[in-house]
Amino acid sequence: MHRLRVGKLEVYLLHDGEFWLDGGAMFGVVPKALWGRLTTPDAENRIRLCLRPMLVRSGKRWVLVETGLDRKPGEKFRRIYGLGDASPVLDQLSRLGLDPRDIDLVVNTHLHFDHAGLNTRWEGGKLLPTFPRARYLVQRRELEDARSPHERNRASYLPENVEPLLDSGHFELLEGEAEILPGVRLIPLPGHTLGQQGVVLECEGERLIYTADLIPTLLHAPLPYIMAYDLHPLTTLETRKRYYPVWLQENCLLVTPHDPQHPLGRLQVGEKGYHAVPVIPDRF
Ligand SMILES: [Zn+2]
Repeated sequence: MHRLRVGKLEVYLLHDGEFWLDGGAMFGVVPKALWGRLTTPDAENRIRLCLRPMLVRSGKRWVLVETGLDRKPGEKFRRIYGLGDASPVLDQLSRLGLDPRDIDLVVNTHLHFDHAGLNTRWEGGKLLPTFPRARYLVQRRELEDARSPHERNRASYLPENVEPLLDSGHFELLEGEAEILPGVRLIPLPGHTLGQQGVVLECEGERLIYTADLIPTLLHAPLPYIMAYDLHPLTTLETRKRYYPVWLQENCLLVTPHDPQHPLGRLQVGEKGYHAVPVIPDRF
């Protein structure tokens, strides 16, 4: 876990363990001759990733961005993705003295199982919201797509992370940008999915962006390094071209959801275009 401050906002970068995905799919059109220099695949050509939820305190309110990897589907599912069987997120919250009931807002950047997997959990034989007092914020478009998946995205959307929250009325649907607390803003970042959103923290002249899968790891910052998982890769490119110049100029800190090595970075631009450099946060 890492801790930092963005002005008055307290930020904790959690770590929900590792999982493994196909390296070729993670780097899209980039040849293995290039991405293989940046990261080392295992015997099944998978590369190591993590999921990094972000916890923010604004005044007395706690916001959890991403809930974590889904471990509910069972042993075969965990083997395919190289997942352990326990989620460390609740332990990390309890180290901070927090119970799931203390979370006021959950931000679902999108509803794929590797980001929204702890939206619900089994309790007393029932699948219930893990954060019972929280409103779960999601873009309306994302919820619609999650509920009517097609052959290309069905493996990513698991109804168990969505339907119980609809039944219990926990979702709050957004359409476009929204300021959810002072200094905490959600912005649409379409491409990976059309309903994806990211988070902007802004306080006392400092800015931090939670990029969601617009930039899954710092290695993916170069414009053409777009995952094959993206449903609309050209939209990803457009979204990057819209925001990169702003994030560069404002010297924003970037938190990417899947970087197993570097929790934090910044954009830079050189002769070969954009890339990201790591920033070392405090360990907590
Ligand atoms: Zn992802």
